[in-house]
This record gives sequence, C-alpha cells and structure tokens, in this order.
Amino acid sequence: MLPIWQSTTFKYDNSEEMAQLFDLEKSGYFYTRLQNPTNDVVASKIADLEGGVGAMLTSSGQAANFFAVFNICEAGSHVVSTSAIYGGTYNLFGVTMKKLGIDVTFINQNATEEEIEAAIQPNTRCLFGETISNPGCEVLDIEKFARVAHRNGLPLIVDNTFATPINCRPIEWGADVVTHSTTKYMDGHAGTVGGVIVDSGNFDWDAHADKFPGLTTPDESYHGLTYTKRFGRAAYITKATSQLMRDLGSIQAPQNAYYINLGLETLHLRMERHCENAQKVAEWLEADDRVAWVNYCGLKSSPYYELAQKYLPNGSCGVIAFGLKGTREDAIAFMDRLKLIAIVTHVADARSCVLHPASHTHRQLSDEQLREAGIAPDLIRLSVGIENVDDIIGDITQALEG
Ligand code: PLP
Repeated sequence: MLPIWQSTTFKYDNSEEMAQLFDLEKSGYFYTRLQNPTNDVVASKIADLEGGVGAMLTSSGQAANFFAVFNICEAGSHVVSTSAIYGGTYNLFGVTMKKLGIDVTFINQNATEEEIEAAIQPNTRCLFGETISNPGCEVLDIEKFARVAHRNGLPLIVDNTFATPINCRPIEWGADVVTHSTTKYMDGHAGTVGGVIVDSGNFDWDAHADKFPGLTTPDESYHGLTYTKRFGRAAYITKATSQLMRDLGSIQAPQNAYYINLGLETLHLRMERHCENAQKVAEWLEADDRVAWVNYCGLKSSPYYELAQKYLPNGSCGVIAFGLKGTREDAIAFMDRLKLIAIVTHVADARSCVLHPASHTHRQLSDEQLREAGIAPDLIRLSVGIENVDDIIGDITQALEG
C-alpha cells in the first residue's frame, strides 16, 4: 500500500544538506508545498501512464491548466485555444488570465491548419485543447494541432481528462504537455478534487529560447540556475514545481493523492465499463423518437467518429451529449424525473449523472459564447456510470415517459 506522508516538513542530518535542496542542487524533500513523497509516487505513476518524463499534482484541474499555461506565459503573452473546452477553463482563459495580461484567441475545434495558423501571433506561447471536449464531446485532431504548433515553435497542451491515458495518450500524437482534472475518472468516486500536469519532455525549449526565457535564461530566484541547462528534458516540470508551486502554492494534499492512487488502480477496468455502457445508451437514445440528436463519438452518425477511430480506438469515455425534442423546460423536467441518474455538477464518475450546461456549469456564457463552445441550449450532458446498463436505460425510459 502507498503510505501517506502526512507531514509538511522533513528533517535533515545537517544544514548543508538543506541548503543544497534549496539551491536545487540535490533532489529531496523539504516542504510539502513544493513536493511530498506520496504525491510524487502518484505523479510518477500518471507520468508513466501518459508516457511523460515527469508530472506534478495540483490541488485541482483548474490549477493544473492555469499552471500548465502560466509556466511558459507572462503578461504580454498570447495563447491559442479551441473554444470547445470546459466552462471553467474558458473563464480562466477569457477572463482571469486576461487580467494578468495574457490574451487568448479561441478557435473552432474543427479549424483547418490554415485557420489555426492564422490565429498564431508573434507573442503566442502555446496551443491548447481538450482530447474530448466537456461538455460537447468533440474530439480534438491532436496530430493536426501539434503539427501547426511545432511548425511555429510552440508546444501543444492537451487536457486529457475525459479520455484518460487508458483510452488516449496525447503525447504519442505530438502533445507536449498533458493535463487532467484528476477529480474525474482518475479518482472516479467523487471523493477528491485534484489535477495533474504531465511533461512529455519532448519540446525543445532551447531551440526557441527567445520565446521561453523562463526556461532558457537564469532564474534569479534560484541563484541564476537555468532550467533547460540543469534539468534537460525535465526542465518544464521542474520549473512548474520549484517556481510556480513555491510561489503560488496549489499543491494537492497527500491524503487526496492517496485517494487518486486508489482510483488509478481500477481506472482501466472502469473505463472499459464506462465505454461499453455509454455505447449502449448512446445507441438506445439515437433510436428513440423523443430524442432530437445525440453526440457520442462511438456512434457512426457522429461527426467525430473517424477521429475517434484514430485517437480512441478502444473507446472514448462515458460522457454523451444529447438533446430532446421539445423545449428547454422539457429537458429540465426530464432531468428532474430521473431517479438513478443524479443531477450533479460533477461528471466522469462511477455513478451515472446528468447536467444541463446552459443552466448550470456554463450559465456565465452568453448564447453566442455557448454556440462558440459547441454547446446547444438544449444540450444534456449524460455521464454514464458503471452500473448495470439496463438500470441506466430503465431510468431514462421512465423519465422520458413522464
Ligand atoms: N478540465 C476538464 C476537461 C474538466 O472537465 C474540468 C472540470 O470539470 C476541469 C478541467 C477543472 O477541474 P477541477 O474541477 O478539478 O478543478
């Protein structure tokens, strides 16, 4: 079993040892705001699952995405992101990062290479997208985005929360940094909020040194240490830990890392069942007259079917987006009648749950922004759990019958 190092601090044999740790001359632990042995075990497990050189756990998925971008951006920088992303990330990029002087251009998930290229500016520092978007279930063409990013000397950051490394490993398709809200499938039981950043170690920061001075020039707060020189392929993730975590302090509690580790032990089994159940539910919904539309990339009718066959050949996730015939109120009444499937903010959980983004998670977005993010006002996000699929379909049936 994984021990929980429930400690803020660590003891040294002499003060010289501690001084070396503070200068990053020696690896080890000195304060849990930066690193903790329990967290490190879980982070390196996720790094292995994703095929990266290192990872850092954060207190939430929000913190993971913010740190992933802020590690290579500063006031005056620019980011190109797909608009089909989680509402919280959309807000972080469009509102909060703007206040820090970092501008984000949102582009369509299905943008052509020329359109992506056209959004890139001299001050652009990264491209961002979600493997499977929340809540629209749109699949990202990772190779295409990576190709354009690399042609312009930029890294691609991919939020892989919905697919998980069980179903897609974005680094294998060219992503340079992968993030997760571990709150979702990784934990799987709605027990802990958390996030992670995985560094592929593949991006050559020195080849584009002028764009990434934080990694390629001396850090005065560490006696002039240069991350790429000292840490090579682990430069990005070391800077995130030793500089951002040190200064912004958003570490995951070791107890929470322990819970995520429990979740990781069954992730491969749960994902298989989520996908099997979601496929059956999506097919059932598609065949029902009361359902206006269904978007699940495992359905042949999905515009993302081909991309899913390429990037998610063994299954995508348990999340389905669909709309009912009728009014917005009909959708809400349907949700209110569900008994097994719970109305919750959460998604990607062992238990089935449902949400109406336009009136819940994305309520801060205007209709136009909703449409840009690929969210129809009637969109119901159904997160299919690992229960008996007949029970899930039975609940939907009784709720539709009213
Ligand atoms: N990324 C995705 C794809 C998400 O779905 C979420 C939350 O739903 C987040 C990031 C934010 O994660 P957290 O809620 O753990 O802060």
